Amino acid sequence: MLAQLKSATLLGLSVSMVDIEVDAAAGLPAWDIVGLADTAVKESKERVRTAIKNAGFEVPPRRIVVNLAPAYLRKEGPSFDLAIAIAILTVTEQLHCENLNQYLLLGELSLDGSLRPVRGVLPISLEYSKRNYTMLVPASNQEESAIGGCTTYGFHHLKEVVAFLENPEVYSPVQVNLPDFSKLAAMQTLHDFSQIKGQSEAKRALEIAAAGNHNILMVGSPGSGKTMLSQALPGILPPLTFEESLSLSKIYSIAGLLPEKQPLIMQRPFRSPHHSASSASIIGGGRIPHPGEVSLSHHGVLFLDEFPEYHREVLEALRQPLEDGQVTVSRVQAQITFPCRFLLAASMNPCPCGYYNDPHRECTCSPAALQRYRNKISGPLLDRFDLQLEVVPVTFQELHRDTPEECSASIRNRVIAARQIQQNRFAGSGTIHNGAMTASQIQKFCQLDEKSRNFLEQAFQKLGLSARAHSRILKVARTIADLSGSEQIQLNHLAEAIQYRTLDKKLWKA
Ligand SMILES: [Zn+2]
Repeated sequence: MLAQLKSATLLGLSVSMVDIEVDAAAGLPAWDIVGLADTAVKESKERVRTAIKNAGFEVPPRRIVVNLAPAYLRKEGPSFDLAIAIAILTVTEQLHCENLNQYLLLGELSLDGSLRPVRGVLPISLEYSKRNYTMLVPASNQEESAIGGCTTYGFHHLKEVVAFLENPEVYSPVQVNLPDFSKLAAMQTLHDFSQIKGQSEAKRALEIAAAGNHNILMVGSPGSGKTMLSQALPGILPPLTFEESLSLSKIYSIAGLLPEKQPLIMQRPFRSPHHSASSASIIGGGRIPHPGEVSLSHHGVLFLDEFPEYHREVLEALRQPLEDGQVTVSRVQAQITFPCRFLLAASMNPCPCGYYNDPHRECTCSPAALQRYRNKISGPLLDRFDLQLEVVPVTFQELHRDTPEECSASIRNRVIAARQIQQNRFAGSGTIHNGAMTASQIQKFCQLDEKSRNFLEQAFQKLGLSARAHSRILKVARTIADLSGSEQIQLNHLAEAIQYRTLDKKLWKA
């Protein structure tokens, strides 16, 4: 006797069908799992056996072989438990079902036969909705599966799945209502821009960063307000679109971080991992490759406070994802790619004591300590920030000024308008923001008149800028022009963009 049914597995975001075949032959009682399974899959033997017994069925004393096909594909994790159990019950004639082949089964079994949630249900459902499969999943994953588009039934216990398969017509599938993304509000943040007194230069730089998705480095003494400004940043980004939400939610599904009752991420992420975090947790990786903070920040903000304090390998590993908008995690058998189009907001003190250049306090750092501290940020990494900003503490006068500060919603409207211009500009090209323009796009969309070109040339020589810095200036100037609704980059746009590159010279090349 042989029973066959379908399950699926993920390698990064790519979904593959897995055929579960179970054969139960006469012979000495034994149980084998073949087909490139990892330890978690091999352990399912004991889980499935005990769950079957505790659900009131039996595992007859026969020679049972479970084959996971195709054999070349590595299978990881516990999500095949349910499919294996159902195949065993079928092959031993404890379950009778006509059309097992139309179902795709996912779920981990507890020893008592109850079903536990698994990761990656959303991307799997999205993939198989095109092919008319019906998904049978743990109840905790049912909303997620239904949003993916497959007809879905959710269950708490192995017994319920058996009852369903013997009598499916009396059940009705899970219904979900998709939220209306056109009415989605922007992110509620801890701080609104209107609550931050003064800081007009910093606010302006953050507006530019948000409008063109430019990475920003903020340098300032402790208490100058860098953290508060960063936390307010997501509030001036436009609300997520449905497409952005789906691509983000797939990543959260694989990470096992989707909320059960509302399995779509509705707001742009703001992630702020601690500086002691490992490279695997920030970039991604691990035995079963999981997305890192850079991917969990996709379409949102990754905030790295105390930037030089992160492990050197983490900082250097950030360079490739910052450049490519995706991250590749190497495994023994395959390369796995996760998207990571995030806005990097990093903040740091100007020196170890924190008060270099401070108007009110003396810096106590030795030149050597100063050098060591700044050398933690390599030139190529520093180059990847489009905007470098010196944040100065707010003055007493500013704190006590009565004029109201502009609120996040009003700044956001300008950001949305500037992003609309970019969307039209780059339509069909794969680029979304000015921050990600290719060399040929820079050439096409960032043309300067003669006066501006001369000005840039002078600045280039005076500040000793790199070629990379040169193209960053043009990208930022493009965004500044977009914010003011100007088709041509004007001299004042360019001059403002150059201002955001002067810290290089002031702090690193001094
Ligand atoms: Zn100092």
